[in-house]
Amino acid sequence: MDRLIDGFGRRFRYLRLSVTEVCNFRCTYCLPDGFKKTGAQSFLSVPEIGRLTDAFAALGVGKVRLTGGEPSVRRDLGEIIGRVAASPGVGKVALTTNGWNLARHVAGWRAAGLTNLNVSIDSLDPQAFHRITGHDRLGAVLAGLDAALALGVPSVKINAVLLKESGEDAFGRFADFVRDRPVAARFIELMRTGDNAEYFARQHVSGDALRDWLTRRGWTPAPRGHDDGPATEFSHPDYAGRIGLIAPYAPGFCDGCNRLRVTARGKLRLCLFGEGGVDLRDLLGADRPEALADRISSALVGKAAGHRLAEGFTGDTRRLAEVGG
Ligand code: SAM
Repeated sequence: MDRLIDGFGRRFRYLRLSVTEVCNFRCTYCLPDGFKKTGAQSFLSVPEIGRLTDAFAALGVGKVRLTGGEPSVRRDLGEIIGRVAASPGVGKVALTTNGWNLARHVAGWRAAGLTNLNVSIDSLDPQAFHRITGHDRLGAVLAGLDAALALGVPSVKINAVLLKESGEDAFGRFADFVRDRPVAARFIELMRTGDNAEYFARQHVSGDALRDWLTRRGWTPAPRGHDDGPATEFSHPDYAGRIGLIAPYAPGFCDGCNRLRVTARGKLRLCLFGEGGVDLRDLLGADRPEALADRISSALVGKAAGHRLAEGFTGDTRRLAEVGG
């Protein structure tokens, strides 16, 4: 049933669910001082997650992405993947991870039902990777990515934040990397959040430079699927993989929004950069599927036409680790 349609006619078939606020990396643009505990850490349990994804699936959601924080700091991540995959109608279970322990766990996650894997790798230069993330682990992360490919995970992608310091060299390195690997490497324009204004002013660059770089070298835009995220991906006959761009500051970016978010504490967020949110947690402790479905679908009336990032408005979002990027 397709009950998730907002006042602008947008359909929502894709849920991004944060499973923890905790992160073990210290990315310069997100958590430069590392994760700091605030309040009791009571994140959704596996049964709560199961009731939640059952309800979203009954409303027409077919793809659920697990994010955070760093989802793999949860010891029960394999169980979470299995429970989400068991929600009738959920055909795609996706994970966004920094990949720190991917090589060790990816076979178990795949067996539990993982279909789509996004690994965040901001640089293929080991020193820059270390400087940006606070961890000298590029080799381990790449080994995990190759393990996922060897296992045949159906979709494997890379997310790299586009930073001024990386320059055009980064485009060439990622293109070389995907020459023989069926991986989409997507650059995401740095977004301003409540906490990173000064960093943003120093490091934000528009994705136009990437688009020009690709076009000059014969890359062409590939068509998008109905439950794809917001990236424009480019392909090239000489490359097995793709290069993509996520440009949240581009006009019209929100027109094709197909995603809803739930925080690790069970709050429905209608936009990554919205305010407030609708608490669902009181309905997750026991089986109350109709009440849950009603609350979710009626909340959509409040979804705004678009974020107002270009005006410098970042809503309640101090950093993406809090909401789930
Ligand atoms: N820990 C996981 C990871 O590293 O992928 C999942 C959470 S992380 C918040 C999700 C994605 O958001 C990562 O690719 C990260 O680089 C990106 N991200 C975080 N803050 C960002 C910002 N201000 N602008 C653009 N992307 C950002």
